[in-house]
Amino acid sequence: EELTQLLDSHVREVPDFPEPGVLFRDITPLLADGPAFAALVDALAERYRGKVDAVAGLESRGFILAAPLAHALGVGMITIRKAGRLPGPVTGVDYTLEYGTARLELRPETVTADQRVLIIDDVLATGGTARAAIELIEGAGARVAGLTMLLELDELRGREQLTDYPLDSILRY
Ligand code: IMP
Repeated sequence: EELTQLLDSHVREVPDFPEPGVLFRDITPLLADGPAFAALVDALAERYRGKVDAVAGLESRGFILAAPLAHALGVGMITIRKAGRLPGPVTGVDYTLEYGTARLELRPETVTADQRVLIIDDVLATGGTARAAIELIEGAGARVAGLTMLLELDELRGREQLTDYPLDSILRY
């Protein structure tokens, strides 16, 4: 539809970044375009209004989407960060990446019991990052109301790792 086309026209394909053989989807042109960025945030706000109690963004590009969405919904934003960035106490989850491992951390005090949390990130690839975020939110006693991704890379099959949760992606490649 119209929104999809508008957003898609501002996503750039970058071959061999950050490593040879990887086709990177770059959303910086979309963020830099006022009408496209606003249309994205408005569409997300419409979809989730009244349905979530907080929005959790995944560092770093997830933050860019989570902050305006949380503001539009009138709810708080939770920051799920890379290892070592948050002052304690934190909980952490280690997970596997295509190359190597990574760790995400959360300050459990930033969520409350049974809060309905929407997890947001720019790209769903293998789903490892999203799974780690779910573990952190649930480990802190809150509920994952859903996940939303600007862009889903179908061939990496992240969706198969997330079957227990409502998952929305706006663009699929
Ligand atoms: P996953 O854990 O394999 O699903 O990878 C998802 C994470 O990697 C997200 O936090 C994305 O920001 C990042 N990522 C993976 N592929 C791309 C891409 O093509 N463009 C931008 N970010 C990507």
